[in-house]
Amino acid sequence: MRTKSALLGKTRRQILHGAAGAAAAALWPRSSIGQTAPRVVIVGGGFAGASCARALRGADARLAVTLIEQRRVYTAPPLSNGVLGGLRALANQQFGYGKIAAAGIAVVNAAATAVDAKMRTVALATGDKVAYDRLVLAPGIDFRWGSLPGYDEAAAAKMPHAWTADGEQIDLLRRQLDAMEDGGLVVIAAPANPARCPPGPYERASMIAHYLKSKKPRAKLVILDAKDTFTMQRLFQDAWKELYPGLIEWISLSAGGSVSSVDAATRTIETDFGEYKPAVANVIPPQKAAPIAALAGVADRTGWCPVDPITFESQQQPNIHVIGDAAISGAMPKSAFAASLEGELCAASIVRLMAGERPAAPKLVSNCYSLVAPDYAISIASVYHPVDGQYVEVEGAGGVSPLGAPPAFRAEEAKFADAWFRTNTSAIFG
Ligand SMILES: Cc1cc2nc3c(=O)[nH]c(=O)nc-3n(C[C@H](O)[C@H](O)[C@H](O)COP(=O)(O)OP(=O)(O)OC[C@H]3O[C@@H](n4cnc5c(N)ncnc54)[C@H](O)[C@@H]3O)c2cc1C
Repeated sequence: MRTKSALLGKTRRQILHGAAGAAAAALWPRSSIGQTAPRVVIVGGGFAGASCARALRGADARLAVTLIEQRRVYTAPPLSNGVLGGLRALANQQFGYGKIAAAGIAVVNAAATAVDAKMRTVALATGDKVAYDRLVLAPGIDFRWGSLPGYDEAAAAKMPHAWTADGEQIDLLRRQLDAMEDGGLVVIAAPANPARCPPGPYERASMIAHYLKSKKPRAKLVILDAKDTFTMQRLFQDAWKELYPGLIEWISLSAGGSVSSVDAATRTIETDFGEYKPAVANVIPPQKAAPIAALAGVADRTGWCPVDPITFESQQQPNIHVIGDAAISGAMPKSAFAASLEGELCAASIVRLMAGERPAAPKLVSNCYSLVAPDYAISIASVYHPVDGQYVEVEGAGGVSPLGAPPAFRAEEAKFADAWFRTNTSAIFG
């Protein structure tokens, strides 16, 4: 197992190898702009889309940048498990779009309902249409409703997923935990990959265990997993043994962890090996790119969006770029860290493409922190570069937190997690 070292001290801009900076210096050739400013429209104001909008605005003031976002308030998923653990307030996760608008980006609060790739327009739920020269889709994920029998939107109101930028879902799960009697059973159903935030379900188990340990010490937590292994497994399991002995049980795919159906009315979860009737059920179902991707014709049969790894332009539709969790990014995990960098990189590429240049191949990093307890975090970082059209890990770069590290090391990582969140969200949302 490699351990992390120099990566912890790197800034996002260093990691991008100056790509965004180079873009900022790029000038439009007269022929490419004509009389009107080039219009770049972005759908989705999460980590990927909002950072792309910011970077485009910073790259050239003459660009007309429009950000279409269906929610007025974005609830950031990173560290939201801390809300379940009682470590953070939901309000700490929530951001508006006022400062993005004040920076000169046209923010449209409406859902995009269709894309006409030939006419280069985006239709909105309001009935309006927005024209673009280049479109960036950054809509995040949706669930494969129906692929897990019994789990649909109505079931999610009883067995929350709490897995999107929707604050109500996190709040619902938190309230269910509060209402549960001591001695109750909590079940987390963790999905197979590819899925958003690979360490997320295990961070969530840790945070809920922290809450239960102090408030409901006779309660138990079972993770029903559709996988046989998970990221940072030894680190998580060592921490659970040390901090939450006997509280968390992880049931792997081979041991019967895969959920075959749910019944929200009776709060029952079925696996091939048995039945669970938890007091609180957190079902994280199988995922795909959010619906606008399929509507725009950029999602393939996997439900995700194949892209050129250098420009993030769709392999299926010219002039449409896809970034963040919706895109297929090879070995790169679906993380906010990666999504923000993809946003900046895509902005740099768009500026270069509009200037008639070919962007250079980048290196990208993803560094995911997971909270295990207050003052205790672990992390995994990797560096990626495009090889044969797909991101692969750069051998020997990155690493994970060391096993058996002293409490001071874990506490330091918890501070890094908080600092990363504050720096990143203030750079994006102001
Ligand atoms: C519990 C949890 C913990 C996590 N922890 C971490 C972590 O510690 N570190 C980390 O790096 N990552 C973490 N992640 C992953 C991270 O949250 C995602 O990778 C990241 O949010 C992806 O960003 P995105 O912009 O692609 O999608 P999103 O953040 O989901 O943003 C997409 C936006 O698009 C909008 N949208 C969608 N469709 C439309 C439409 N048709 N019209 C208008 N707007 C639309 C949505 O409303 C949303 O605001 C975590 C995730 C979870 C669930």
